[in-house]
Amino acid sequence: MTAEQTQHGGVGRFTLDTRLTGALGGRTAQALERAFGYRTVGDLLGHYPRRYALRGELTALASLPLDENVTIVAEVIEVRERTMRSRRGSILEVKISDGTGILTLTFFNQAWRSRELVPGARGIFAGKVGDYRGARQLAHPDYELFDDEAPASPTDASVKRWAEAPIPIYPATGALASWQLAKAIALLLDGLDPVPDPVPAAVRSAHGLLSHRDALERVHRPEAERDWKAARRTLRFTEAIVLQTTLLLRRAELRAHAATARHPSPDGLLARFDDALPFELTGDQVEVGGQISEDLAEPVPMNRLVQGEVGSGKTVVALRAMLAVADSGGQSALLAPTEVLAAQHLRSIVRMLGPDLSSQLVPTLLTGQLPTAERRKALLRAAAGQSRIVVGTHALIGETVSFADLGLVVVDEQHRFGVEQREALRLKGRQPPHVLVLTATPIPRTVAMTVFGDLDVSTIRELPAGRAGIESHVVPLAERPGWRARVWERLAEEVEQGRQGFVVCPAIEPKVAEEADPAAEQEADAPSSAPAASVASILEELAAAPRFAGIRVAPLHGRMASDEKDATMRAFAAGEIDVLVATTVIEVGVDVPNASVMVVADADRFGVSQLHQLRGRVGRGGLPGLCLLVTAAPPGSLARQRVDAVAATLDGFELARVDLELRQEGDVLGANQSGGRSSLKLLRVARDGDVIADARESAATLLAADPELATHPALAAAVRRRLDDDATGFLSKG
Ligand code: ADP
Ligand code: MG
Repeated sequence: MTAEQTQHGGVGRFTLDTRLTGALGGRTAQALERAFGYRTVGDLLGHYPRRYALRGELTALASLPLDENVTIVAEVIEVRERTMRSRRGSILEVKISDGTGILTLTFFNQAWRSRELVPGARGIFAGKVGDYRGARQLAHPDYELFDDEAPASPTDASVKRWAEAPIPIYPATGALASWQLAKAIALLLDGLDPVPDPVPAAVRSAHGLLSHRDALERVHRPEAERDWKAARRTLRFTEAIVLQTTLLLRRAELRAHAATARHPSPDGLLARFDDALPFELTGDQVEVGGQISEDLAEPVPMNRLVQGEVGSGKTVVALRAMLAVADSGGQSALLAPTEVLAAQHLRSIVRMLGPDLSSQLVPTLLTGQLPTAERRKALLRAAAGQSRIVVGTHALIGETVSFADLGLVVVDEQHRFGVEQREALRLKGRQPPHVLVLTATPIPRTVAMTVFGDLDVSTIRELPAGRAGIESHVVPLAERPGWRARVWERLAEEVEQGRQGFVVCPAIEPKVAEEADPAAEQEADAPSSAPAASVASILEELAAAPRFAGIRVAPLHGRMASDEKDATMRAFAAGEIDVLVATTVIEVGVDVPNASVMVVADADRFGVSQLHQLRGRVGRGGLPGLCLLVTAAPPGSLARQRVDAVAATLDGFELARVDLELRQEGDVLGANQSGGRSSLKLLRVARDGDVIADARESAATLLAADPELATHPALAAAVRRRLDDDATGFLSKG
């Protein structure tokens, strides 16, 4: 901070916790809260510039987006005043240019502005782009001219400095223009008391970082490009270290509870299961299995995430963990995202266990929609410890469910379960159970570290041998509308060869979307206004197609009763249905090896990982799979790029990376993270892997020496603020 800026102050003294009402006055504070939810000085100082403009820089006027708030650096080239005929008054028209185009500014009854808006004046103009008789214009824009700041003599040394000082461009709204924000922020910086530094001094100097105060100053009032660059680097690292410290503390807290160590017995259930297994475990399955059994043998709760492609054999790995727990008399609960999947998990577990182990372990389904008598029986079995594997949905977390000795909780598909739900389950056991989370959504290492930093991560990359592979094609209806008929033709051909297929649609009826799938909603762009392909409309279409005369087609979607859904899945698995026309209820885990075709209608309405999951439903047995991604999205659109990306590779990790690039960061971290008051502002998971890794290492070192952060009160305070955010939903994606 320069002496001059200090002089400026005298307005008041602020800390980061000072209310904006006190610092800026009621009206401005109100506007800021309405626009961004900001309440404190710290909130507003965390409103970093979106970018920096240079005084010499002329933004492309040629490509101004209609109806958007823009900020432009330009020069006045012409000023005209005329009186209006229809109404009394005058209109001032000011043409400005940036060399790429010309834009008209209009002011009504403000002729006096022609005194300052003179040709040659340069400044920064902001407003909402409107259209007047085919020409772009800004009506009553806000502006600030550079002129009065311009140094008198062009040879002056300060000329260069003035010309080079970047102008911060803030995320603005119609009510709050960029420089209004800049002015408010400058006022706060001038009155800001020394701020505590969340990053300890030793870490700062080791990484060449600025002090927090200095970083705030330079990010908002840079004198040169290097200022804001250094400031951003510091602030990014700060975000990373606060997040990593939070996650490591949470992990330590989880591990502070005692759990029962579970050892498989030499000739026990697990050994019998392994002996009877009809296939060899893959190398990755063996390795991950080893990591899990090491965790289980510890007297602290396991918290492990197993990620692996659809069909990579995660269920087998989880089942082996359940058997290890059963060996010591413990029970396991398996949570699936839907009733259909819970029922299917139960069936495949019974099948894999075989009759002997099944009768000993009594795998039991416990879902919300069971008939009362059956539900009561299931509850008893769980409570008495007779059932050592209980499979269910969220209902398992219900208050009435209790276990005799819950040793392990397996959560299939983390994304649907929030941290709170995991917590509730943890409280079910006398001691916290071990927790194993399975996900088929491949998560890049950096995301895993950021989002699931309190979990250990295992990865199964290898697919079991003998998979025949999947061929994927985009069916681009925008360019080739005629290919629609060929899709049904291909589907019919497969069925005629004794195979089965899925057609997945985004909606149930033309106007009824499948019940909220938050992941899908977040991933997909705003869908186009054309009605989405629906289960009902496709059933109708297939019923009318002569080619489908002898083909058994059935619907499956979330509005069917759960026993109906279950019966349909069973019939499909038994080969009594040839084609399922479904919504994403079949997304995860459905395992029918004879299914060879997956048709996704309006594929652009699904997210990358969802499409990848859907595709994983076919090609599971020895049959080659075929995935047809039908889309009417125009080539090159973001929606189409997603579909093309899925067709281009089967590598889930590669897709996860592409997905990160195509998506907004907010979606990766959950809706909360994109909000105005979110605590991750500059850190980008896709880009800042190194920063995250460095910060994690620093956080681990700090915590190893000082687990309570007693000597780092500012970091501890930042972590507490972070945890307050968490309480309102951070990290819980479900
Ligand atoms: P995931 O849960 O990861 O999608 P599953 O555990 O359901 O995968 O396994 C998919 C299919 O592959 C199942 O039919 C399973 O029995 C089979 N499978 C699992 N592991 C192997 C293996 N090592 N070799 C052959 N088949 C396997
Ligand atoms: Mg599975």
